[in-house]
Amino acid sequence: MKGSADAPASADTRGPARELWPADLVYDGLGRPRKDAAVLLQVRPAPARVVTIGALDALRAEYPAVPVRPARRVIAPAPVNAHTHLDLSHMPLSPGAYVDFVGAVIAHGRAGGRGLEAAEQGLAELAAAGIDTVGDIVTDERVLARLLSHPGLHGVAYWEVLGADPDEAEARFEATVAVVRRFRPLERPGGVRLGLSPHTPHTVSAPLLRKLAAFARAEGLPLQIHVGEDPGELPLHRSGDGPLREAMGPFLAKFRPSGRTPVGFLDELGVLAARPTLVHAVHVVDDDIRRLQRAGCVVVHCPRSNALLGSGTFPWADYARHGVSVALGTDSRGSSPSLSPVDEFRAAVAIHGVAADPAQLLWAAVKGGHRALGTRPPRVVRGSPADALSSWPEGAPWPSAAAAADAGADARGGGG
Ligand SMILES: [Zn+2]
Repeated sequence: MKGSADAPASADTRGPARELWPADLVYDGLGRPRKDAAVLLQVRPAPARVVTIGALDALRAEYPAVPVRPARRVIAPAPVNAHTHLDLSHMPLSPGAYVDFVGAVIAHGRAGGRGLEAAEQGLAELAAAGIDTVGDIVTDERVLARLLSHPGLHGVAYWEVLGADPDEAEARFEATVAVVRRFRPLERPGGVRLGLSPHTPHTVSAPLLRKLAAFARAEGLPLQIHVGEDPGELPLHRSGDGPLREAMGPFLAKFRPSGRTPVGFLDELGVLAARPTLVHAVHVVDDDIRRLQRAGCVVVHCPRSNALLGSGTFPWADYARHGVSVALGTDSRGSSPSLSPVDEFRAAVAIHGVAADPAQLLWAAVKGGHRALGTRPPRVVRGSPADALSSWPEGAPWPSAAAAADAGADARGGGG
């Protein structure tokens, strides 16, 4: 099993042929993760294979002679990083308010910090963490070519589109179509797919958003959009003012408020009909969540980035109540201490505490990620290789509400 601290008994030919691996949560990729469950492995002859997965007590009773390994916290297929920016992997961690962070990203790019070298470092970090499925926002054609032709990677490379000036919508759209026409031939079956990422509903004009959504639907291109990351987005869209307008003044000179919420605005433009995955979606109202549920959109939750940038707390319980699928993403290294969705899962457990069921968070990290990216979700059944499962860090039991509050405060303090 991947990620196991101690050597498998399969290395010792005199050892037992079977082992029982217990964990607080065990997930086989089907249905919901199980609590207090275990995996029965046939470890000899190599390679080790799954015999069955079930309740720990029942398996102990049924196989009393099988040795029990030390308990893990989670045993599950590898999780998915559904949102990151690999080309920002050289950016130092930059805590601060959203507007300051956007400024830091722009400065880092102007200084030449973005690009293929940084993306290679990000890819190496993902590989070291055992992550092979990713949703990446791409701003460099060399990175796009690299991801689309990567032999071991799955997911979506979303080409980022910016353009707040409606007068430039046609030119920006034509340039985007040209990129799609050039790079689509690099897609391979089972490999990374090409997608589009209109940056946000305030940095991409309404006519450009409309064109991109229609094009994505016609071409079958996946979409990913940042929305509701900063509280200032709501007053900006509703009335055209507020802190975001003041901070981004010249860039938003031609922005006209729709009077709606950002999500309502996307719905009105026909963007939700293209079923984009929406990243962050922290600052939403109940009507937004209902619209996302009706449209079948997956929301990507980035808890450590939200904590570091003071974005607020993702309304996990509201999304759960409305049955919206949630995935986990790290966002970039500029706002996240690692690119590992396992770390993101642990942070989410700590931040949401008793407000979120850890089994649901685990579902989000694995199945929600595959749903967001349209990749094939894993299924671990009898006879599957043990390597189809990874064992996530051992550790303390699920936190109490008080411990979760402490962990949230730690994360906001910048430690992550
Ligand atoms: Zn992002």
